[in-house]
Amino acid sequence: MNYNIALLKGDGIGPEIVDSAVRVLEKIGEKYGHVFNFTPYLIGGIAIDSCGEPLPKATVEGCLASDSVLLGAVGGPKWDTLPGNQRPEKALLGIRSAMGLFTNLRPAKLYPALKGDCPLREDIVANGFDIMIVRELTGGIYFGERGMRQGKYGEEAYDTECYSRMEIERIAKVAYETAQKRNGKLTSIDKANVLESSRLWRKVVHELEASYPNVECVDMLVDNAAMQLVRNPAQFDVIVTSNMFGDILSDEASQITGSIGMLPSASLGDNTRGLYEPIHGSAPDIAGMNIANPIATILSGAMMLLYSFNLKEESEAIVNAVDKVLEAGFRTKDLAHGGEYLTTTEITDKIIENI
Ligand code: NAD
Repeated sequence: MNYNIALLKGDGIGPEIVDSAVRVLEKIGEKYGHVFNFTPYLIGGIAIDSCGEPLPKATVEGCLASDSVLLGAVGGPKWDTLPGNQRPEKALLGIRSAMGLFTNLRPAKLYPALKGDCPLREDIVANGFDIMIVRELTGGIYFGERGMRQGKYGEEAYDTECYSRMEIERIAKVAYETAQKRNGKLTSIDKANVLESSRLWRKVVHELEASYPNVECVDMLVDNAAMQLVRNPAQFDVIVTSNMFGDILSDEASQITGSIGMLPSASLGDNTRGLYEPIHGSAPDIAGMNIANPIATILSGAMMLLYSFNLKEESEAIVNAVDKVLEAGFRTKDLAHGGEYLTTTEITDKIIENI
């Protein structure tokens, strides 16, 4: 098969880590007989420097014309003094909205080889954990009615959480389908003991249950979920939750893996075209030094193969290669704790050797 992938390398370590992911995808293409055509477009600070805006029209058009999009990261001190709406990070919201992406998939996996990096007690993570958080991305309190007004005690501010049946249904479907592709266990997280929007959330999520007989769906209140994530993270497989709860819980989950350079993400909409990117930023402090950990971006490429192109075996080949390299004891600088480490290109070579 032939796939057209838009590359948004961005700033800082973006070009280095995207180049690594491209090399890995090319190896997959060679081994499994696919052709990946990569077209780079400008985004972020580099786009500001070249065309005066963080998200040029040509970038949006290029992404919409592609089969999928791989993003590095944007931003850096050079552009930090620009006003909010002209900053590189503004391009991220712009591209997500232009592509109609309402689902954010964030896996948080603790690799057995990296247990020592996890801030949790050894007995808690003895068997590692592998969680997929499905976060609603375009609704809820971040997009609800808000404002300032004069109240009984003077100035007050308010934000409202509002979810429609349609918004809940479409994210719940993604979550059930994701659980079907994994271990069939879905935890829906809400605050249904207090919030009306959560009660509709819970009702709609369970209405869909009958269509997915292989998936067991349980509810959990968000305060309990925050606690359970650090008490026993291995109990979770797929989590589905609202925009704000997902924002908070996915950061908590990523933190307990202990390694920001390892975590990929996917943002998806109504069609198979998605936006895949590492969860970390542009790491300007190490840019251009060939020491960045490219694994989060390489695994973002693996997510693209699975979720956009339905290439399960090819996707697993990347994940297994990363596992093997870590099991063999190879580390990038961020994971080496002062010991020996491989450069960005060297660890990429090792992963390619294992595909
Ligand atoms: P960051 O994630 O870029 O870096 C935090 C720390 O983690 C740094 O010490 C960095 O060196 C390290 N780090 C991050 N990724 C790494 C990797 N792959 N390998 C090794 N070490 C890694 O966060 P920050 O420093 O707060 O932000 C830097 C810039 O990135 C800012 O301009 C910020 O706005 C931007 N940012 C962009 C995105 C995005 O593009 N999606 C996300 C977050 C931050």
